[in-house]
Amino acid sequence: MATFDYDLFVIGGGSGGVRAARVAAAEGARVALAEESRLGGTCVIRGCVPKKLMVFASSYRESFADARAYGWDVADGAFHWDAFQPHLHKELERLEGVYRSLLDTSGVEVFDSRAVLDDPHTIRFANGVTKTAKHILIATGGRPVRPDFPCADLGIVSDDIFDLPELPKSILIVGGGYIACEFACILSGMGVQVTQFYRGAQILRGFDEEARGLIAEMMREHGIDLHVGTNIVDMAPASERPAPDEENQAGMGADVHQMAALQTDARGGDAAARGGPIWVKSTNGHEGVFDHVLFATGRRPNTDKMGLEEAGVKLARGGAVEVDEYSQTSVPSIYAIGDATDRVNLTPVAIREGMAFVETVFKGNPTPVDHDLIPSAVFTQPEFGTVGLTEEQAREDHEIEVYCTSFRPMQTAFAGKPGRVLMKLIVDRDSRKVLGCHIVAPQAGEMIQLAGIAVKMGATKEDFDRTVAVHPTMAEELVTMKTPVRTA
Ligand code: NDP
Repeated sequence: MATFDYDLFVIGGGSGGVRAARVAAAEGARVALAEESRLGGTCVIRGCVPKKLMVFASSYRESFADARAYGWDVADGAFHWDAFQPHLHKELERLEGVYRSLLDTSGVEVFDSRAVLDDPHTIRFANGVTKTAKHILIATGGRPVRPDFPCADLGIVSDDIFDLPELPKSILIVGGGYIACEFACILSGMGVQVTQFYRGAQILRGFDEEARGLIAEMMREHGIDLHVGTNIVDMAPASERPAPDEENQAGMGADVHQMAALQTDARGGDAAARGGPIWVKSTNGHEGVFDHVLFATGRRPNTDKMGLEEAGVKLARGGAVEVDEYSQTSVPSIYAIGDATDRVNLTPVAIREGMAFVETVFKGNPTPVDHDLIPSAVFTQPEFGTVGLTEEQAREDHEIEVYCTSFRPMQTAFAGKPGRVLMKLIVDRDSRKVLGCHIVAPQAGEMIQLAGIAVKMGATKEDFDRTVAVHPTMAEELVTMKTPVRTA
């Protein structure tokens, strides 16, 4: 019988890989893990965690005015990136240390190296050393991709935001998904002049249309210059472009005067030192200049040049590892979880997939991952929490009742702000089950976690109705909506 160096070798030290390694080690398996970058992966180092800390940082801007409306004698404060950023990085280093010590105390051997496959049981490090394992788990995550525009490499991606030496004065964000919308709100909250281009008709494609509409409205209300049906056709360093005529500047982030100033800057100022301002021409014919262009145009699995296909592992178009419901690849000894498989690209899902893998392979209890009714939140301002079917999806296969209310919440209405929230339930007319719940509101991420339990349990509209309201809250509307706004 073949003997291996390890029972399990995990490639990738993000949330999914680390959890799988620790849980397998706890079962007595001999486990090693290789990470070429920093332990913690996308979520901890360049995703969810730093993003959420930036959400918190950015959300204070409005609270000064709100506090005054409530009788506090406070002046507007200014945000200082150079005060926030070192604190942010210190926290990320602390969390990285926590991940390393969790692996150490679990008895997982960690290799700080890139690792690729030599064959279905052999891993090779960057220095040429090889190790063997009975099972290999690919948990290499994904990375942001730039679109195929001329000069697209002038733009930054979400990974770069946390390392910006200074906060830009203006930014163009390209994309209309989670990352584009979240950073549009964050950076706007920090005082950056934000322009956003989305190529489609409405941001957040795939989510409930009514909710998407309200979020777009609220983002514009917060000062984000959102252009839908718009994309970049050309971009270049601003210093290399002739000054555009005034007419063309209408509706874009930078005006002609700012353009002139930025061009001066590009020749010798600070902006040049950090890459310089960027001239952009858009599909609507407008031109503008921005300190940065952020491409939030999707992510791609990290599976390139890993020896996967050579070892017999099938990859889908786009590079995702093809797996079955147990996360097993086309090679029996190799499994894959998380963003590398491009199923549902969320940290808690990768963790679930990692635990189901251990259950299947090391506990003798074959466990498919349940990808149904996964609640999630987009951390826009206001937040968007969602679980289950959108109204548009539900209409395809169900006869439905739609319960929906949109209103100005007490806290901000008192402060004289126009912001509205939305609570929406999609109900199956036959079974009475709540098929979908969509919330646009401050703290919607917290709310949807709890509503998600009820929806996952198969709660009916009548179950919601017999739950007594918690008053006065925004979420009480979820249990007090009596009449459908429409049926279909
Ligand atoms: P998404 O796939 O959600 O969005 C990509 C956006 O870029 C879409 O609006 C897409 O438009 C647009 N786009 C793609 N290609 C081009 C192009 N060539 N030119 C212009 N626009 C383009 O990706 P994200 O990067 O925002 O997020 C990736 C994943 O990360 C998410 O799906 C999510 O799973 C996860 N994530 C989750 C978060 C959370 O839970 N809060 C936060 C951040 C990320 P179109 O709609 O037309 O395709």
